[in-house]
Amino acid sequence: MLYWDHAASTPPYDEVIQTMADVMRKHYGNPSSIHRMGEDAAKLIKRAREVCAASLHVTPSEIILTSGATEGNNLAIKGTALQYASRGKHIVTTRIEHPSVYESCLELEKYGYEVTFLPVDANGRVNPDEFASAVRKDTILVSVMHVNNETGAVQPLVEIGEAVKKANPLAVFHIDGVQGFGKLPVQLKEWKADLYTLSAHKIRGPKGTGVLYKREGITLHPLLSGGKQEAGVRAGTENIPGFVAMAKAMRMAGEQTETFMTEVGALRDELMAWIQKTPCLELNSSPKGAPHIVNVSFPGMKSEVLLHSLEEHGMLVSTKSACSSKIAEPSRVLLAMGRSEASASSAIRISMGLTHSREDLRRLLAALESAVKRLEPLRQEGLN
Ligand code: PMP
Repeated sequence: MLYWDHAASTPPYDEVIQTMADVMRKHYGNPSSIHRMGEDAAKLIKRAREVCAASLHVTPSEIILTSGATEGNNLAIKGTALQYASRGKHIVTTRIEHPSVYESCLELEKYGYEVTFLPVDANGRVNPDEFASAVRKDTILVSVMHVNNETGAVQPLVEIGEAVKKANPLAVFHIDGVQGFGKLPVQLKEWKADLYTLSAHKIRGPKGTGVLYKREGITLHPLLSGGKQEAGVRAGTENIPGFVAMAKAMRMAGEQTETFMTEVGALRDELMAWIQKTPCLELNSSPKGAPHIVNVSFPGMKSEVLLHSLEEHGMLVSTKSACSSKIAEPSRVLLAMGRSEASASSAIRISMGLTHSREDLRRLLAALESAVKRLEPLRQEGLN
């Protein structure tokens, strides 16, 4: 069985698994306790925070440790909306955001906030000029993802950051960086990012942990009431084994970024070239996208049929994103890119990492070839 679903979750590094077990066994004190086991646990968190901060080239006081990117994105969006409501109630985002951003914005609409959802082009990119005209005096937040989780499309964040801050220097600029960290260079300063979300399980760290970078000077209204952990922004006893292991994964994944771009990028190029020369397939990812995600449609054939056919060949891929793959609707992201319903309902996502070899890719291509050959007559007859 070969796992091609790294955009959904990744195999943890051995060091991550080892660290989790060690910390759970030996350092189970509560960091809020004032005895020596509490202090020991607090030191581990302090060190983990420093490593996360160093991986992003920011200061440790700018790191909020979270339960993952769903929490990070909710805190970024709702925390900003609640904190800065007296300045305005307008938010700008795009049509292709992850549900944790998209649904947070829809939720805020119910509470009197106005949200502008910007369109994307056929490659899934937003034109920075759109931000220049959408951001207003009463815009308090702009939220954009670095890399799209379904297609791998990369947003021009330098230009977007520039346009946002020129239109309104007080608008908080949030970036969902989940699919970009470890895969492409991260430049928080150049992007003019105020908030930046990460999730550890996408970078071979443990599930249920993440980082929200909050630039010095930005205040977030807490979503959880309770203790004063995480400088009062995120109450609750810290997940020490998870945070220590996450810090390890961030350092390792951050250091491997260039290797990832070259090696995984080469696999992506080969896969894309094969798709482009296969007549019945439509490529939904651009060669300029992230190195690890390839989205392809087999128009007229339901995504699930191709997915299960590949599974029979030992290849595990995904339809849409893991978070929305159980929703029986065509992909919102592909529709926003102008794809037809037939195309958007027939897409699969293949996502990879440094654990894949050229031999693995050769096996994937062979499986794709035989699945497509087998299904093509059914597709032509409309029998799927
Ligand atoms: N944003 C993006 C772009 C993602 O791909 C994901 C994971 N599917 C999330 C946010 C949510 O991350 P988590 O699984 O840590 O809640």
